[in-house]
Amino acid sequence: MVLSLEGHESGVATYLSAIEPATKFVTEWFGKPTAPIAIADFADPHAAPFESGTLLMVSMAGEDTKLAGINLVHELVHSAFASPRPWVSEGLAHFAEAVYREQQGGREAALDLIGLHRAAFLDSEKEVAAAAEKNAGQPLINTFDETYYRSKAAYVWWMLRDMVGPAALKEAIRGYRAADDADPKYVERLIESASKRDLSVFFDDWVYHDRGLPDFHVQSVHPWKDKNEKAGKEVQMVTITVENLGSAGAEVPFTVQCEASEITNRLEIRAKSAATTRVELPCAPVEIVINDGSVPESDLTNNVFRITEQ
Ligand SMILES: [Zn+2]
Repeated sequence: MVLSLEGHESGVATYLSAIEPATKFVTEWFGKPTAPIAIADFADPHAAPFESGTLLMVSMAGEDTKLAGINLVHELVHSAFASPRPWVSEGLAHFAEAVYREQQGGREAALDLIGLHRAAFLDSEKEVAAAAEKNAGQPLINTFDETYYRSKAAYVWWMLRDMVGPAALKEAIRGYRAADDADPKYVERLIESASKRDLSVFFDDWVYHDRGLPDFHVQSVHPWKDKNEKAGKEVQMVTITVENLGSAGAEVPFTVQCEASEITNRLEIRAKSAATTRVELPCAPVEIVINDGSVPESDLTNNVFRITEQ
């Protein structure tokens, strides 16, 4: 149902044409939307969107197709999927917005969208990191603080999708039953059983406690040549050690650039530790970039490492 004001006809048309692709996307991830959703128009084009249940109030004065699709996806997730835990219901709705954006505009566009959430919880997470007492902050599992259950949760779901892959996460979501979500570890177990992967450390750092954010930097880089017996020639290798100065661990993507190409891999670095990995390259490495923006970090200024003369 779309309730609209006179003069906003083209905005309404934008919403109506976005319904079908948005519904198809949401059905694939969350099952068929069942509860009717309502989009109601605001007279003031600058009014901030507001939602209640499956009702979204948003100005339809604009004709931004991307925004219309994203807003619809959010409400359709609520229509298809319910959870008593805000980090699950709202976190997944915001996560779905980003995945939908990725499907249409690519990963970078999705990370730009999810990046709008970063500022919301960055300051409170910095306070958590600085706090002396152990139980500072807001564990996602039972938070009713919007910045956490919307903004931080969107990132947590995105990181989980990157870690276990879309197929396993979809399976876990489709297996979710609100009535069964009593044990705090219910969601972790669903994703673990779908992905056959131990996620206890991740859930401990991001969901059951609020440990602040990671802070990655390249600790050392060592380019070297290896003999490839099969190919009968030397290959370029690089050994990279990344340190995490923060109190939350994460699996983070990193990119090694050389003259003509780049290689992106992922590396898990636990809280207050370092991890080492090696990468084979087609040419000599010149730069390493940790984190494409998919892992929220307290400091993003120390993530690029230039490799000088070897
Ligand atoms: Zn919502």
